[in-house]
Amino acid sequence: MTSSDSTITESIEKIEKKRNLSSPELPNSFDLPSAAIPQNPLLDSSRAENAYKGPLEIPFKWGFFSKLPANARAENFSLEAFSVISLVHILAFSYAIPTFSWSGLAWMIALSFVAGCFGVTAGYHRLLTHRSFKAHPAVRNFFTFCAAISLESGPIRWVATHRLHHSQSDQPNDPHSPTVNFLWAHVLWNFFTHPDLKTPEQLRRLALDIADDPVMQWFEQNFFGVYLGSLAALYVGGYATGGPTLALSWLVWGGLVRTVWTWHITWLVNSATHVWGYRNYRTPEGSRNLWWVALVTFGEGWHNNHHADQRAARNGHRWFEFDITYALIKLLSTVGLVWDIAPVSKSLVPEGQPVGQHANPYRASKEPIAI
Ligand SMILES: [Zn+2]
Ligand SMILES: [Zn+2]
Repeated sequence: MTSSDSTITESIEKIEKKRNLSSPELPNSFDLPSAAIPQNPLLDSSRAENAYKGPLEIPFKWGFFSKLPANARAENFSLEAFSVISLVHILAFSYAIPTFSWSGLAWMIALSFVAGCFGVTAGYHRLLTHRSFKAHPAVRNFFTFCAAISLESGPIRWVATHRLHHSQSDQPNDPHSPTVNFLWAHVLWNFFTHPDLKTPEQLRRLALDIADDPVMQWFEQNFFGVYLGSLAALYVGGYATGGPTLALSWLVWGGLVRTVWTWHITWLVNSATHVWGYRNYRTPEGSRNLWWVALVTFGEGWHNNHHADQRAARNGHRWFEFDITYALIKLLSTVGLVWDIAPVSKSLVPEGQPVGQHANPYRASKEPIAI
């Protein structure tokens, strides 16, 4: 390393330190079970140049008849997850056409935004998992409520799973990599509990900063009840507005069809954006930017940008990479409900450029895990 490299490294470290100090009430690192989660060698910047063999190309394969990973053992099978996901799909597909109404469709679109953008994307993902910004407790709790009605698990399990994905992306221990096959990354992984995400203690170690928060613990225990409550509210609202036929329509469209839609758009980020699309940055996994996934997921489809800078609140980095969640975060900051929005790092490595030109090849390497 030359003296100019070390000067750059020092100044980057100063910037990183300053950014970390902006969230003093949160820990800067997590007590990871290092034996259970082997470090990806590409996250070690000193070895990155030798280790980087160009973008990881993950071939698309459905995987109907291919071998499932070692995690997919009978003792890890979750009958609960399998039953709920199957039942919601069966009910939604069986009743969608006979119960269609325009107001039901309007509820479906509105609640997709509430559960998907406010809840999963802004709440579970950018706020709770990556701490990309700080929020007023009312906003944080409201986002968590919105995410609970997406029926994608409670906040602690969601955060732990996603942090494991970032630390093990497209490696054998990744909870949902399309290196296994597309169907596994998209949906099948939900039916098996990952061995590193089985016990409350394992989840806690990956979500230390939220695991002791009583509100988060409450949602962790009660998210399914909150979801059922949202279905009941739709039914009652529909009944009061237009009787039993409209009640059923609002329940099916605002509840079940919307749940199926939100599940699949979330899962596309795990499956499609590690297979198809373009890459702006060198990252040690197969993440890609895919415009149509970005469009339906409120900006989450700019997934290579996100893997390159996991802390940044903004996933769309180029002018055409529209990121509606970032627009929401900026809007809330203008009225003082959110603040300390993490900017995009200046030290990302564009795809195709040698790592040696940059002091900090992978920003994630400066941090023990994606936070
Ligand atoms: Zn990913
Ligand atoms: Zn993430």
